[in-house]
Amino acid sequence: MVKAVVGANWGDEGKGKITDMLAEKADIIIRFQGGANAGHTIVNDYGKFALHTLPSGCFYNHTTSIIGNGVALNIPILIDEIKSITDKGVPEPKILVSDRAQIVMPYHILLDAYEEERLAGKSFGSTKSGIAPFYADKFAKIGFQVNEIFDDELIREKAENVCERKNVLMKYLYNKPELDPDEIVATLKEYREMIRPYVCDVSAYLAQAIKEGKEILLEGQLGTLKDPDHGIYPMVTSSSTLAGYGAVGAGIPPYEIKKVIVVCKAYSSAVGAGEFVSEIFGDEADELRRRGGDGGEYGATTGRPRRMGWCDCVASKYGCRLQGATDVAFTVLDVLGYLDEIPVCVGYEIDGEVTTDFPATSLLKKAKPVYEYLPGWKEDIRGIRNYDELPENCRKYIEFVEEQIGYPITMVSNGPGRHDIIYR
Ligand code: GDP
Repeated sequence: MVKAVVGANWGDEGKGKITDMLAEKADIIIRFQGGANAGHTIVNDYGKFALHTLPSGCFYNHTTSIIGNGVALNIPILIDEIKSITDKGVPEPKILVSDRAQIVMPYHILLDAYEEERLAGKSFGSTKSGIAPFYADKFAKIGFQVNEIFDDELIREKAENVCERKNVLMKYLYNKPELDPDEIVATLKEYREMIRPYVCDVSAYLAQAIKEGKEILLEGQLGTLKDPDHGIYPMVTSSSTLAGYGAVGAGIPPYEIKKVIVVCKAYSSAVGAGEFVSEIFGDEADELRRRGGDGGEYGATTGRPRRMGWCDCVASKYGCRLQGATDVAFTVLDVLGYLDEIPVCVGYEIDGEVTTDFPATSLLKKAKPVYEYLPGWKEDIRGIRNYDELPENCRKYIEFVEEQIGYPITMVSNGPGRHDIIYR
């Protein structure tokens, strides 16, 4: 059976932890979109890891980790990441990389940085991992698919074309040194030796695995609100974050995705710029940031402090709907145990009217949060394994949010570890 684990919000909901946990019973875990621009933090018996490219199941012996065709593949980062986990005693994971995945090139990273510099104060807050220039090239059809880099003649021809186009930008828009086709060819030849052991016709592999009844997880990066179509455009990422895209980015039929587990945070956090209706500031935000996640809410890749806010049921309801949630995993609930009273955003006021439907960006800019205040439980709930043992106010909080979003919360995460989970 194929299950997708995806985010309801702005990302950092704890997808890594939920995937890692479900991977215990899975055969295959696939990344289907995104690149090394965001990360998952995973705490397990080997230690604490920040993964950017490897799927979250790579710590188990019995799983195969796959980089799907939809991913922005940064080859040196992948190789370093494999080394960083094996250095800490994790057995060499079984990894397959789609022969149709495209490669993030050093010039994508340069272009990302130059563009941020050019935009200065108006920048998108890119992580400068080259993701936007990478996807732009993919759809402009001048990217390099993994299978192509084994053909000397082809890479030479393509590298020359890339330089012709990019060097206009380098010279006239950014005023930076021009790209050299020889250098691009040399880089690709280096990359092909690094990636050679992992290359696979992934869609064929998965078709066979599905036929054999294997347990397959699709692991999303970021969340609904960062989807390029359905998110807070233009402050979005460059590949679709939706479970539906999992079929495309892994190469499987859409009807094979039987379960969509949408990871939804018990409060909100976001990185980068963009609309965030229930955002909080000052001491209130600092305290939640300090107590949040596992050791504070700071980006796994960038170390940037995350923007903080209260649980936003309008955004989460929309997030679950676009993902097509069959299950909601409600995470980081333990963090809220310090509050006397917990604000929950239950509506947006736009031009004097209250709505519970998440609007497109131009209206979203005008939205003001409408809060309800729920009593806190003032207790440490870590270590609890049965739903009935949770404090009453904690259960009321979960049930209130569930009713507001309209999708079943079947898992509650009350700690960063693999076993900190309550099934309902
Ligand atoms: P992802 O990108 O969605 O996988 O999320 P991140 O890994 O960036 O952020 C989740 C953070 O919260 C990580 O530091 C996790 O270890 C931590 N985390 C996940 N679930 C829980 C939870 O239920 N409680 C607490 N306190 N931390 C959690």
